[in-house]
Amino acid sequence: MQRLRELSRRVEAVYGEIAETFSAYQQQRGLNCRSGCGECCLQPTIEATVLEMIPLALHLFDQGKAEQTLTQLEELTEPQGCFFYQKQSFDGKQGQCSVYQQRPSICRLFGAAGYRDKQGKTSLSVCKVIKTDRPVPYQDTLIALESDPPPMMIMAKEQVNELDYELGKQHLPINDALQQALERVLFKAWYSGMNDDQQIA
Ligand code: SF4
Repeated sequence: MQRLRELSRRVEAVYGEIAETFSAYQQQRGLNCRSGCGECCLQPTIEATVLEMIPLALHLFDQGKAEQTLTQLEELTEPQGCFFYQKQSFDGKQGQCSVYQQRPSICRLFGAAGYRDKQGKTSLSVCKVIKTDRPVPYQDTLIALESDPPPMMIMAKEQVNELDYELGKQHLPINDALQQALERVLFKAWYSGMNDDQQIA
């Protein structure tokens, strides 16, 4: 369990750097998310690795909510948006993240981020809401792509996932990744408890 907590601290340290880098670029280019927008969180296609969900799984464990959350996740019958998104509008597009401090890396890149296209050139991924809301900053950013390159999505994800190859190698739907992270945390906690008992005996 100690090793998992140490790994989680290292993941969170990288999360801090990622959030700072991407937020600074988005602010500077005027491409930050609309306040209260939750369209990304609603998408069943949103993915994370088990490693990225370890800080959240440990947080839930420390709050005594790991088993209850695991049961709720197991009861989900079809792919859906993030379990931790709290809808605040009828259509669900307005809402908030209930685990903001522990959110995985993909959520720290929402809005605008760089990627390599098929020719290996730097391209910009911008959410459609921002493109509609802020057409001028979007066009200006496209023009300035070479002189002011965006932070790259893949670099941010690799920075996290290289901390543990096994847990970081596979991208899963976000709720499945959390489910597996919770299973791992609960197993490690149970195993640590067993060892403590044996030492006491
Ligand atoms: S963890 Fe939070 S920010 Fe990320 S998808 Fe879920 S609700 Fe949205």
